[in-house]
Amino acid sequence: MEFGLEDVTLDPVSVDRWEPLAWSLDVWHDATPGDRMSLPCYPTPFSAATSGLEGELALSSGMAGEDLGGKIAVVENQFLALPQSVLTSFATWVYDPAGEVPTSVQILPFSGQLNTIMDPAVAAGAIGFVGILRGLPWDTDHYYVPYDDVHRPIPGLWLSERNGDRLLEFLGQGPARGRIVLERNLEPATSHEVTGVLRGASDQWIVIGSHHDGPWASAVEDASGTSLVLAQARYWSRVPARERPHNLLFLLNAGHFSGGAGLQHFVTTHHDFIANQVVVEIHLEHAAREARGDNGQLVPTDAPEWRWWFTSFIPPLEEAVAGAICAEGLGRSLIMPPEGFPPGSKNPPTDAAFFHPLTPIVSFLTAPMYLFDEGDTLAMIHQASLVPLTRATIRIVEALRDQTVSSLRSAVYVPPRATKMPPCVPPPTP
Ligand SMILES: [Zn+2]
Repeated sequence: MEFGLEDVTLDPVSVDRWEPLAWSLDVWHDATPGDRMSLPCYPTPFSAATSGLEGELALSSGMAGEDLGGKIAVVENQFLALPQSVLTSFATWVYDPAGEVPTSVQILPFSGQLNTIMDPAVAAGAIGFVGILRGLPWDTDHYYVPYDDVHRPIPGLWLSERNGDRLLEFLGQGPARGRIVLERNLEPATSHEVTGVLRGASDQWIVIGSHHDGPWASAVEDASGTSLVLAQARYWSRVPARERPHNLLFLLNAGHFSGGAGLQHFVTTHHDFIANQVVVEIHLEHAAREARGDNGQLVPTDAPEWRWWFTSFIPPLEEAVAGAICAEGLGRSLIMPPEGFPPGSKNPPTDAAFFHPLTPIVSFLTAPMYLFDEGDTLAMIHQASLVPLTRATIRIVEALRDQTVSSLRSAVYVPPRATKMPPCVPPPTP
């Protein structure tokens, strides 16, 4: 192809394709069954179909241990809003030249339950699920969570906060019933991993990847990551092979939104290659604008969303990442641990998850509140970050010129780090 890539391959991956067709939620009070209220809503992905399911509406805490037998559970899905001072407490290193950590609060694109939000209701015997999107500063119900490809046995619907409040007020007026309709296609499909190669000066490899699928226009998640990978392919294709530090494998995963099918497929089918021949896996996801709400609308700002760089506990790798961030002036950057965020996790919460700990990783990701929402359109991409992120990635690859599969792995430490990170060298003023 145009970039001179060798060995371009399309590797088929089995995924599940979920497509909603028709849905509705009608509610009424027991005493006045002829007087019905229809609420705008959106189906929860991979939940069960129904041509018409009726049941008593029951407010649920969303916690285990309730008895919801035969009822439709109404659950509030409270989005996490975390002060940067909490998020940075997980970080191994922070670059915040504007000093915004003490005052910034970030709304994450999920509740504490993320993909498991329906599970307590299912376990408690509920026959349906109605979730209220609580805590977002704009009005939406087009929310693509859960995306773990678990086919839950009851139908589910999301309500915006405004319509959720209408439902709660309705329930407050007396016992009520609801009727859910949810028609959707859910069928096996084939997607593909896309890979290509540029040979370099060593016989070892750096993998540079992202995922190419998304539920909506999904410009940030992950057309932006795909563009960052393609930018690496374009740059390195113009560097003579002998000057490329290592062989480079460019990877675009399938099926991130089908339970991470592409990541799992690649790690399973390339296990020995990743474990024995890959110096580092660099994953690039989400060049995002920070956004805010304005009169029920989602509005992008000119600021980049806070950047997470999940990096293996390897001093020369951490220093390569920090050096690249400093040199490119990528403020709002946190080097995050490869495990332990969220607490108890053994892998980073990214599409690079299962490369760790087979190989050292650098996994760049931002988590804007609209990540899984229909509002993730082209306007949300932080264009001003695309070139600096590309240059930073080139710097990281260059910094690994003298490293090998064994040298990086032999430098792994168990936290805390014994040595201090070197000081940040800020970018020269123009
Ligand atoms: Zn992504």
